[in-house]
Amino acid sequence: MTARDDRLFHPDFSTDPYWWQAWRPSPGRGARDVPARTDVALIGGGLTSLNAALELARAGVSCVVLEAREFGSGASTRNGGGVSGGINIGKGLGGRKGETDEALRQAMIADAAQALDHLESLIAREGIDCDYERSGRFAGAFTPAHHRAQARQCELLNAHARAEARLLPRARVREEMASDFYYGGMIVERSGKLHPAKFYGGLLDAAARAGAVLVADAPVTHVARDGGGWRLTTPRGALFAEKVFVGTNGYTGAVTPTLRRRTIPVASHMIATEELDPALAASLIPKGRFLSETKRVLCYYRLSPDGRRVLFGGRPRFTQVAPETSARLLHELMVERFPQLAGVRVAHNWMGNLAFAFDQLPHMGEQDGLYYAMCCNGSGVAMLGWLGQQSARKMIGGTNRQNAFDGRPFETLPLYDGRPWFLPIVGAWYRHLDRREREAAAREAP
Ligand SMILES: Cc1cc2nc3c(=O)[nH]c(=O)nc-3n(C[C@H](O)[C@H](O)[C@H](O)COP(=O)(O)OP(=O)(O)OC[C@H]3O[C@@H](n4cnc5c(N)ncnc54)[C@H](O)[C@@H]3O)c2cc1C
Repeated sequence: MTARDDRLFHPDFSTDPYWWQAWRPSPGRGARDVPARTDVALIGGGLTSLNAALELARAGVSCVVLEAREFGSGASTRNGGGVSGGINIGKGLGGRKGETDEALRQAMIADAAQALDHLESLIAREGIDCDYERSGRFAGAFTPAHHRAQARQCELLNAHARAEARLLPRARVREEMASDFYYGGMIVERSGKLHPAKFYGGLLDAAARAGAVLVADAPVTHVARDGGGWRLTTPRGALFAEKVFVGTNGYTGAVTPTLRRRTIPVASHMIATEELDPALAASLIPKGRFLSETKRVLCYYRLSPDGRRVLFGGRPRFTQVAPETSARLLHELMVERFPQLAGVRVAHNWMGNLAFAFDQLPHMGEQDGLYYAMCCNGSGVAMLGWLGQQSARKMIGGTNRQNAFDGRPFETLPLYDGRPWFLPIVGAWYRHLDRREREAAAREAP
């Protein structure tokens, strides 16, 4: 490492997620043979499939979760742990023929609010120790225009998601964070934060307790119709299933090409700082909320559950890059918001894949006979878990109402095969637009 690197990286620097200090994927979990048959096979062992599996198993339906790697390798143990109930829904709605966008958006916000209820009751029912707190969220306005737009978002969230949302003017931002970076913001009380790896570990245990069969190191390489059901091939044996659920989100691969063409895998990166001086740490985010912001290439951040570190995430690059690059970029973004952290070193830097749909909305449904729930657009902890549970109910005929995300057009673009070659260009363009808006904002309201 160079002298520059030593100032940026703590001597114990690790590319493991900070969260894995408390719970980490291990080869022991799910080390078993692939059974011959089951009612429902679930591809992918993240929180989406586990929510579905838990619901199925509790209803007495046999199910097998096939995970390509170790359980917990995907985004579910790598995320920021921000839990929202609909705050990001509807950014992508616009001008689709034949739909009333406003009515659809309202229905989606109302249904997304159920995701938070689902998550909270799951944690309570299964006794999952995951540092969950209804901490609320502060979304900083990147420009004055964004702050004005937040007024409408507050109205929508309060009217349809019981969000207890309110605006905070620029002069009061310091009540939420020790920074003058934002032009005001929006507080959403009905949201929270948790420890994602501990949450995932508790969910995995709950699914196993309920009777779901968990098989690790079992990448599904082929799925084909077989009589009235499906045959799934893995290097460790084949499985016959009546129904198949796909919960592979940002890792959706060639085995489900139709879904792969509909998902855009995007890398999200995070850093954890070294332990901070307690007085400094306590001053940064005095109310302990989860923070996000309104720019296109947004950052999200929070304190660690012990209150000693800042965990700072974003998409400074939309693809996988070396830790030297993403740690440096995230550190710069963090210091832009908190100049007082300039000399603080990075102790962890990691990344994971999330998935966007072309309409920037979450999706669940049935495609070519395969059930799926995916595309969290960066906010899947509550949302995709709930869509997983909803999918399970749908598969076993246990729902009497179709939610607003179910079965909506899940579109792709001609020639797109699931390999997003365009992401570096889109990322650079979005960063340019963000910069331009911010410069204009500085001229409007210095
Ligand atoms: C850095 C980062 C920060 C984030 N922050 C937040 C946040 O603060 N709040 C929030 O709400 N959301 C956040 N998210 C998003 C959230 O983590 C995801 O929405 C959620 O974890 C998705 O869960 P999943 O089960 O669908 O996918 P994953 O957890 O990614 O699991 C998918 C699994 O499918 C497996 N798989 C793929 N193909 C196959 C195959 N052929 N056979 C078998 N298995 C297969 C993969 O190995 C993987 O383990 C963040 C994501 C990242 C990466």
